[in-house]
Formats: sequence, C-alpha cells, structure tokens
Amino acid sequence: MADCTHWLGDEVNGIWVCARCFSKHPERPRRYVMELSRESSGRPARQMVILAPIAQAGDVPLAMFIDFMARRLIARTRGGFHMADARDYAIEILRSFGEPFGSDDLDWTIAGAWEMVDEDMQCWDHDERASN
Ligand SMILES: [Zn+2]
Repeated sequence: MADCTHWLGDEVNGIWVCARCFSKHPERPRRYVMELSRESSGRPARQMVILAPIAQAGDVPLAMFIDFMARRLIARTRGGFHMADARDYAIEILRSFGEPFGSDDLDWTIAGAWEMVDEDMQCWDHDERASN
C-alpha cells in the first residue's frame, strides 16, 4: 500500500485514508515547497508545508462518509462492532467497490453509505447459507 501517491484523503482512526484507493498511511501526506522571497534582500527562501486536502463528495468529507457506514454496520449487527473496527470494515467495503470516493458512479450521501453496507451484508447471509 506504500505505492499510493494519491493526494486527496481524510483522517480516520488517526490514520490517513486515501480517497482513491483507500490505502492507509500513518501520516497525512504533505509537500514541501520553497517560497521564493519577493525582495532581493538576500534572506533565505522559506520552506512551506502543504498538507494534503480533505476529500469531499458534495458536503460530505470522506471520514464522515466512513462514519455513516460504520454506524450502519453497528446498528445492523446490533453492536457487533466497536466504532474503530466498524470504520476499518467500512474502508474494506469501499475498497471492494473499487470506485474512488466522490466518483459519479456511486451515491456518496448517507443513503448511499447505508446501501453499500446493506449490499455487503447480503453477501454475509449467502456465506452463512453456503457454509450450513
Ligand atoms: Zn491512493
């Protein structure tokens, strides 16, 4: 997952989650740029830090969308997940869809978040039936 050089993402459970491939990073990506001094005063150029921007789909930042999914998972499993685990699992679901956050092909509202969770949970039922 270290190959990901995507720029947009959001912080979830204290880690940075990429909004394109949903890989996890220990730190929010940042770029260092040298600010050119406007005067020729001989002062050294300052280094500026640019933090990766938070990914948003409409008004919904990625972390909020993941929280929508996590709360749905907790509700549907009647507390079968802790929040941190539910968020982790929500990220797995997003990865399985293979669509970058905010893409036109999926609904990135709370209704869409619930739908993704519900769709994933249908597979759980199939798995259970298959193993019975
Ligand atoms: Zn990425």
